[in-house]
Amino acid sequence: MIFKATNRTTRPALRKVRTTTTLRPLQHRLDPQTVEEIPFHARDGVRLGLTRIDTGEPDRPAVLLLHGHTASADMFLVPEIRNLVDVLLDDGYEPWLLDWRGSCRLPYNATGQKYTYDDVALYDIPAAVSHIRSRIGDDRPLFAVAHCIGALTLSLSMTAGLVPGLAGVVAQGVFLTPKLAGRTSLRMSLAGELLKSRIDHIPVDFRTVGLWSKYTPLFALASRKASCPDPTCQILHHSAWGTGASLFVHEHLTETTHNRLADLLGPAPLWILPHLRRIELARTVVRWHDTDHRYAALPPNALDAAGRIDTPLLLLSGSDNGLWLDSQQLCHDVLARRHPHLDVTYTEIPGYGHLDTFLGRGAALDVFGHILDFLGERR
Ligand SMILES: [Zn+2]
Repeated sequence: MIFKATNRTTRPALRKVRTTTTLRPLQHRLDPQTVEEIPFHARDGVRLGLTRIDTGEPDRPAVLLLHGHTASADMFLVPEIRNLVDVLLDDGYEPWLLDWRGSCRLPYNATGQKYTYDDVALYDIPAAVSHIRSRIGDDRPLFAVAHCIGALTLSLSMTAGLVPGLAGVVAQGVFLTPKLAGRTSLRMSLAGELLKSRIDHIPVDFRTVGLWSKYTPLFALASRKASCPDPTCQILHHSAWGTGASLFVHEHLTETTHNRLADLLGPAPLWILPHLRRIELARTVVRWHDTDHRYAALPPNALDAAGRIDTPLLLLSGSDNGLWLDSQQLCHDVLARRHPHLDVTYTEIPGYGHLDTFLGRGAALDVFGHILDFLGERR
C-alpha cells in the first residue's frame, strides 16, 4: 500500500474555544442594587462589559475606568482594599467600568477571535464613551482613568478624535510613548518564536495548567531566582507573562490579593505581540492596519497626532515601574516640548511599581489622592 489509510482516532483534537459571551461575574462588595450591568457591544458587534455604579444622584460627574490588558473591571473593585471605585463614590463621582475585549472576564482575550489594539481604539472605547454620553447628556463632565494598555489604546482613540470633549484623562504606566524594560523587549522577540510553536497564549494559573505541560518551561523560567514560591505570582511579579519584566512591588499586595492574582489577570495572548512589538520599536502608539480602510480613522502614528488632544492629562507612574520604566516622564517631556498648549501633568508615585498603583493595599493613600486632586480641579 502506497498511501497509509488515515486513522481517524489519531487526528489532533480540535482546540476547545469558549463560544459563550457570558461575562464572569464581577467581584465586589458593593450593594448589588447599585451595580448596573449594561448589555453592551462594540461597534463591530463584539460583546463587551459596561457597568455603572448607580448612586441615585443623577448630577455626579462620570468617570470611565479602563483596565489593562488581561485584567478586567475587577481591578478597580478589589474588595480587600479601599479601591478606586470606593474613593470615587465617596468623592461624589459616578464610576463607569468598561470591560474591553482584552478583559479576562470575557472569552475573547485568550480564545476568541484575534484582534489588535486598533480594534480597541476604534471600536471599544468610542462605543463606551458615546453610550455613557447618551446616558449622562452633554452637560455632565465625563473623565477617564486608564491603566496600562487601557491608557495606550485610549491615546489612539483620543488622537483619532473619536472621544472628543472628555473633561480630563488620567493615564497610569504608559500613554503615547511606550518604552519597555530591556529584557521585556528582548523576550518579546523570543515570544514570537513561541508563537510558531503550539503556544498561543501565556497562562498565569498554574493550577489549570498542571505540572507537566507545554507551559512548564515558561513557569520554570519564571521561577528562577524568584523569592515567592507561588507559580502564578512568579509568572506575573517576577516575569510578567514570561517577558522578564515586573508587574508590581510584591509587598504592596495584601495576602488576599496575592492569592487571587489568577482571577485578576488572565492568560496573555501571544498573537497581540506583533502589534506591541511594532509599537515598542516606534516608541509611540502606531496603528497596526495600514492598508485596511476600516481603520483609516486611526492616525498611523498617535504621537504625531497629539495636537488633536483636547483634554487635560495626568500622567501617573510608580517610580519603580518594572514594565514601562519612565515612559510617562518621557511622554510628559515630549508633549511639553512639542505641544506647549496642552495641559499635561506628570506625577510619580515613590516606591510603587505598575499594577500596585491600583491593587496595592496603600493605593488609596499613596495614589488615588493624586487622581482625586486632578479630577477635582476640573469637575
Ligand atoms: Zn508572591
